[in-house]
Amino acid sequence: MVSPADTIYALSSGAGLAGVSVVRVSGPNADAVLTALGVPVLPEARYVALHKLTSGPGGAVLDQALVLRFPAPNSFTGEDVAELHVHGGRAVLAAVFDAISGTGLARHAEPGDFTRRAFENGKLDLTAAEGLADLVAAQTDAQRRLALRQYDGVLADLYEGWRARLIDLMGHAEAEIDFSDEELPDGMRAATEERIAVLNAEITQHIVGADRGEHIRSGFPIVILGAPNVGKSSIINHLAQREAAIVSETAGTTRDVIEVQLNLGGFAVTLSDTAGIREASDAIEAEGVRRAEQRAEDAALRLVVLDATDGTLPEKVRALIAGDCLVVVNKADLLRGKYAAPGLPEGIVPILVSAETGDGLDGLLDRLTGEVHDRLGASEAPLPTRRRHRDALGEASTALAHVPDAAYPELAAEDVRVALRALGRITGRVDIDDILDTVFRDFCIGK
Ligand code: GDP
Repeated sequence: MVSPADTIYALSSGAGLAGVSVVRVSGPNADAVLTALGVPVLPEARYVALHKLTSGPGGAVLDQALVLRFPAPNSFTGEDVAELHVHGGRAVLAAVFDAISGTGLARHAEPGDFTRRAFENGKLDLTAAEGLADLVAAQTDAQRRLALRQYDGVLADLYEGWRARLIDLMGHAEAEIDFSDEELPDGMRAATEERIAVLNAEITQHIVGADRGEHIRSGFPIVILGAPNVGKSSIINHLAQREAAIVSETAGTTRDVIEVQLNLGGFAVTLSDTAGIREASDAIEAEGVRRAEQRAEDAALRLVVLDATDGTLPEKVRALIAGDCLVVVNKADLLRGKYAAPGLPEGIVPILVSAETGDGLDGLLDRLTGEVHDRLGASEAPLPTRRRHRDALGEASTALAHVPDAAYPELAAEDVRVALRALGRITGRVDIDDILDTVFRDFCIGK
């Protein structure tokens, strides 16, 4: 008999009370598990059959289930797969899991096991596996669309296309090693370098989209900044429509960074509330200010909040009004007369709001939605979505940029080889051992 380690099972639908739950079994013992659970005749491949599941031949009935088989290699994992559609609910699942593990034919799956097997059996490449993890985790429409396209193979096709072109160019580079200049057609070297430059321009252009890809996938980072007590937490609470940050009247309360996730016009946004920026009075507050300033550096957009009743603009706050930044003037309800801006940098038009009355906050939300849409919503071109894509693409691009400087044809060929490996690592064609654990760590059990 095959070792149970070769066959895995897990709940593949969501946990919790449900009408139906799907238990997936994958591996050489999948059919044997069905037989052991009292399924008398194995259903035909990809046909559904209704059966009573039992704890073993002649054992107690556990549930009625729809049973499906996907024999290898035509299954998600590429192995024999069985699916049990049982009634959702804790006791049913506990009984079915006990029965399966009681057969000694299968073990419970680890996170990402099913997809990892699909990858190992050539059913999908690493970018598609990542796309699948993202699709399951997607909370917004933009995340869903990006993940689905990646799962569908847009990145794999792009990178494999580049690899195919490089393999072709590799032949030219190697010809230069093997033959003298006289033996080679005129202008071959220049033509090869030109084609490499064109390809590298495409890679560079693609890397430019990495921020967009990562921001769509993990949330567009907006940070809210300002002096203590200007109403940062009140604004964030209003925007998040829940009590995410502590609102208090004592200056300097939000000492750490608090994050809320928002869905603005179909895009995921991570809005961070930070400690008030001022000369800190103690070490803990100073650390809060340091973190706030760090967040300001990393954010794609800053919201700098000022107090409408305060006619001054501290230097530390003024320094934050730079780059991608909106200035929000809060406590408009306390204004008597017109707002007199305290020497704002030129071209800054402040947005007047009141977190107390809610005035202006819908406008602020619309403005933020527009800003996010402008930055993330443009084309449907394939985008890198992870740091590891960006790093490997950067490595490929740097290597290709070295080709014209190579002193010997051998070195030019080596540069092309480095670029090929870097691209191959993204789809999982080469050097896979180092990256598999990182990629599949993000999965849930049952995927
Ligand atoms: P933070 O330190 O910048 O996060 O400021 P908080 O959100 O904790 O607010 C500081 C104080 O200002 C609290 O007492 C709030 O109730 C008050 N506050 C916040 N926004 C407004 C506003 O628009 N109008 C008025 N009148 N008070 C506000």
